[in-house]
Amino acid sequence: MAYTEDDMLMLSGIQHFAYCPRQWALIHIAQEWSDNKLTVEGKILHTHVDDPFYRNKVGEVICWRSLNIASRELGLYGVADVVELHPTQDNKNAIEIADSPGWWQFFPVEYKHGKPKADNIDAVQLCAQAMCLEEQYNVVINNGALYYGETRRREPVSFDKALRAEVLSLADAMHLTFKAGNIPQEEKNAKCRNCSLKDICMPGLKLARAYLKTELYEETT
Ligand code: SF4
Repeated sequence: MAYTEDDMLMLSGIQHFAYCPRQWALIHIAQEWSDNKLTVEGKILHTHVDDPFYRNKVGEVICWRSLNIASRELGLYGVADVVELHPTQDNKNAIEIADSPGWWQFFPVEYKHGKPKADNIDAVQLCAQAMCLEEQYNVVINNGALYYGETRRREPVSFDKALRAEVLSLADAMHLTFKAGNIPQEEKNAKCRNCSLKDICMPGLKLARAYLKTELYEETT
């Protein structure tokens, strides 16, 4: 299925949706946003990435920064932090670049604050970026990397079948939720502790409501 221009959603939201659909809906449907320490650190790191004087060019690698990307199949659009182009002999999944002879293969890199996480949310976002680039440039991209500010290291990501299927399924679920316009109910879970929206979401409220209901019911019966 190909989404229309009017259906397009922000690609960066896929990480929020994978983290918690309610968090994504509060940001993208209810337009709520709240910074916490983690999101502020992330913004500072992205300021460096977007700075044209901040360079990590190594050898033969060409870097494109803050590249606009989109996919009709996913119905997502956004900006890729850094897209590296590596020289290759294989012209099948590569492009030509003016003033840079030869063939060049895409290698997306996403910058993240903190350190690698136990889940694959960051990999999902990077894979969605790669799928956008594939659609835009008619290539296949097999690999990319996540760079973490705390460890100052790159972690390789392979865009395998399972990860691509997860991206497709999350993108579809985002569109369905957006169309319905419903904010999913809060469900207190382990992720709530680090959630930037916990003060707005108030995940304990449901439990408190249930507790009060039980207590009041017992007192009045
Ligand atoms: S506080 Fe918990 S339930 Fe609420 S949006 Fe954040 S992660 Fe989701």
